[in-house]
Amino acid sequence: MGSLIALGECMVELSPAGEGLYRRGFAGDTFNTAWYARRLLPPDWTVAYGTCVGTDALSDQMLAFMAGEGIDTAAVRRLPDRTVGLYMISLTAGERSFSYWRGQSAARALADDPDALEAALRNRDFIHFSGISLAILTPSARDRLCAAIAQARAAGARVVFDTNLRPRLWEGEAAMRAGLTLGAAVADIVLPSFDEEAALFGDTNPDETLARYRALGAGLVVVKQGAGPVMIWDRDAGRAEFTPKPVARVLDTTAAGDSFAAGLIAGLACGMAVDTAARAGIRLAAQVIQAPGALVPGIFGQAARG
Ligand code: ADP
Repeated sequence: MGSLIALGECMVELSPAGEGLYRRGFAGDTFNTAWYARRLLPPDWTVAYGTCVGTDALSDQMLAFMAGEGIDTAAVRRLPDRTVGLYMISLTAGERSFSYWRGQSAARALADDPDALEAALRNRDFIHFSGISLAILTPSARDRLCAAIAQARAAGARVVFDTNLRPRLWEGEAAMRAGLTLGAAVADIVLPSFDEEAALFGDTNPDETLARYRALGAGLVVVKQGAGPVMIWDRDAGRAEFTPKPVARVLDTTAAGDSFAAGLIAGLACGMAVDTAARAGIRLAAQVIQAPGALVPGIFGQAARG
């Protein structure tokens, strides 16, 4: 029995469903992780999502979707003057591209009510957030969010930070470096991707990425490299490395990292050793990238449903 909250922005997803038609879904990095974690964790675990939405019909539909998927929405704040963000997927000769409308989304107010934030983070076993959760906030709201997370961590929560770099969401490279460093400094577990870290911090190999986050105080750092080896440093178990089994037909890598994080977190929450939990994350991500979309219900049997 336990409790996990993921924090950030869930968006409306419009994906192509025939000429001029779109299917409406809901997705977003930390929300995807919560969705996968819900399916992996035992039913007596609470999996909550922390964000802000509007009071309009679309926001109602998003909350109904979350609740229908078993996600606790008690920590979602509702703002009468805003609504949820949206992205649309375009397919051009089989290649996916994304257009976003999220500049004014309600989720940007995530850290604007300190009491609500503190209540949302209280008594959690795991808190999950990402570079995107920070990027959508103002610099002072980033500080507030990280201070609240640090306080919950001091009270016993294990904090997971998925770096998820999105340069277009930040004010600039310096702000992105500062924001990621701020987030990682309040985390126990940091989940960077090497290609992104190399581009932003100039790391020349994954060990430099591991060392940088280790120096910020994380007890577990897992550096991902797509199909390449997953490099792990754990304060107790030391250094390990696992190469994902090759996937013959990669269809859509959306949510590879998000599902990896869910597999790892759920494994740790269930008492697995770090290497076993990491392998569970790798296996889940391999299944997710063989199917279209961020959320892939088909890979779970009924019995696996939390
Ligand atoms: P992110 O989505 O956070 O950038 P990655 O793209 O590195 O992260 O992918 C996360 C995990 O998903 C990898 O560590 C790996 O386990 C799995 N994965 C991603 N791409 C592939 C691939 N082409 N083949 C096999 N596994 C993959």
